[in-house]
Amino acid sequence: MLALQGDVREHARLLEELGAVVTPVRRSSELAAIDALVLPGGESGVMDRLARITGLREPLREVIADGLPVLGTCAGLILLADRLLDGTPGQETLGGLDVTVRRNAFGSQTDSFETDLEVPALGPPAARTAFIRAPLIAQLGPRARALATLPDGRIVAAEQGRVQGLAFHPEATGEQRFHRRLLAQVRCR
Ligand code: GLN
Repeated sequence: MLALQGDVREHARLLEELGAVVTPVRRSSELAAIDALVLPGGESGVMDRLARITGLREPLREVIADGLPVLGTCAGLILLADRLLDGTPGQETLGGLDVTVRRNAFGSQTDSFETDLEVPALGPPAARTAFIRAPLIAQLGPRARALATLPDGRIVAAEQGRVQGLAFHPEATGEQRFHRRLLAQVRCR
């Protein structure tokens, strides 16, 4: 778990329920011991700043580019985007997902909502998901593929190789299947 800021505890609890050993990552030396990485929700501008200050930004870019299985949710999706719209001043991303992401695309905190999403890669039943000041995948590049879309066609999850980026929070509603996919990717590494 990237543990600089955000909803680290919720993800950690879910991963432990699935049998994973969870290590908080706050400095680059801690990256050597991990087999997969979760980038949590929170505030992506703050996470980016902390990643720069702690010297984690470049090492994170490298492990993601090297094919480490990664799951990013909400702010984590923003960190994974190759291109970012409406970032905070000076905000950079780690990249890894060939998408353009727009921050806060659904409005403010009060516009947060829960919804059931059909996710073909997960099969039935629909995934219960929470959108909390959520970003949107405004454009999908040729190397990424959509994982989930809202009924109006807007793309809210995408993957590329072993990188999954979700605009919503599955951990907030107890949806475990994205984390299961992440752990399954570890085994076939
Ligand atoms: N709006 C936040 C950001 O820009 C993301 C919100 C979230 O992670 N719940 O990083």
